[in-house]
Amino acid sequence: MQPLLLLRWRLCTMLAMSKLRSVKDVDLEGKKVLLRLDLNVPMNAEGQIADSTRIDKTLPTLNYLLEQGARVIILTHFGRPKGEYVEELKVDKIAVALGDALGRPIDKLDACCGSEVEERVSHMKNGEVLFLENTRFETGEKTNDPVFSKQLAALGDIFVSDAFGVVHRSHASTVGLASYLPAYAGLLLEKEIEILSALLEAPEKPLLLLVGGAKIDTKVGILEKFLELADVYLIGGGMGNTFVCSQGYEVGESLCQRDKLEMAKAFCESAELKGKVLLSLLDAVAIKGEISEDAKPIVVDLDQVTPDMKILDIGPKTIAAFKEKIAEAATIVWNGPMGLYEMEAFSEGTRAIAKAIADSDARSIVGGGDSIDAIKKFGLSFDQFTHVSTGGGAMLEFLQGKELPGVQVLMESK
Ligand code: ADP
Ligand code: MG
Repeated sequence: MQPLLLLRWRLCTMLAMSKLRSVKDVDLEGKKVLLRLDLNVPMNAEGQIADSTRIDKTLPTLNYLLEQGARVIILTHFGRPKGEYVEELKVDKIAVALGDALGRPIDKLDACCGSEVEERVSHMKNGEVLFLENTRFETGEKTNDPVFSKQLAALGDIFVSDAFGVVHRSHASTVGLASYLPAYAGLLLEKEIEILSALLEAPEKPLLLLVGGAKIDTKVGILEKFLELADVYLIGGGMGNTFVCSQGYEVGESLCQRDKLEMAKAFCESAELKGKVLLSLLDAVAIKGEISEDAKPIVVDLDQVTPDMKILDIGPKTIAAFKEKIAEAATIVWNGPMGLYEMEAFSEGTRAIAKAIADSDARSIVGGGDSIDAIKKFGLSFDQFTHVSTGGGAMLEFLQGKELPGVQVLMESK
């Protein structure tokens, strides 16, 4: 079977045979709901929440549960404490911020399981919210240990997952809980799956895939999977450096994944054979020496890059070429910044491209922590995009047709 047909077939059978069990399909009055959220919010240098997108996006489910008279027990991970208690990774500030967003204070406990938590939970009233401590303080979380899952499950009557950002991980609080409690999808998770499924099933053409950023390993797969579905590929950021390097261009000391050059080259050949449009860097904003706010940006054509340079952004010719393609697209999927957007001198590529997508009439789907951060930094509104996904890795895996364990456990046929 052709890869595209296979992908569609897999999706159609997956969706036809097994629908997500929705939180809307269950009587919630008086139920103790273990609600898994992804509140792994970014913090600034002062230890304050830098971006509250993830908090705001959980409110519809939370409000719905409370309106229905549920008793809500919130679970989230935060950072990478590696199964140990880490003072700086306690979730107190997140609980306060969520309470502010919700418009009422939320009681936060200092553990996520154990007798004290059980005791407190047993006294909960309808419409009350409790926030438990970072699930990743427990070794059993990331190993999906049944003992830990059972301990968590003992706290509630049902499990609701609204943590789309972590459904590609098989952890106790994303997957394990579903073995011991009836499991349902929250409203945000449902919406993510609905929009991304529709994109895969019948995308309006031409479909443009714009990829950038630093995590080349995690993004290579989507390029290949989209070989049938996409019509145009635009590749910038560190990923773009790898692609132009695979075509024999000098990229000097730029971020470039040299062990992926063969793969990049093979992909370019396949795309050409299939008659796809593939554009990467035509020119660049580069520096010589160390990366800093004071580094002097030099605009160079691609064939003028020297071995002592670092490419930190796409150049004006690339921006113009990318914008032309964006204007012609009917559907745009974007993941990953075009350059080191965190520094003003190297942010123009990402800014111009983000704005072009925001201004276009195409259906636009954006995912990835840094891409979303860039949108906010440039003062663009989420409303200017069709869908801003709360999952970076999870969105890419879903679009590649991979089974997401945290979604599988919420399917009706399970
Ligand atoms: P996302 O979070 O949107 O999925 P990634 O995490 O893959 O994106 O990549 C974002 C990071 O890539 C940013 O920190 C950005 O500065 C960096 N980046 C992009 N292009 C370059 C480049 N040419 N050189 C160095 N870093 C880059
Ligand atoms: Mg990132």
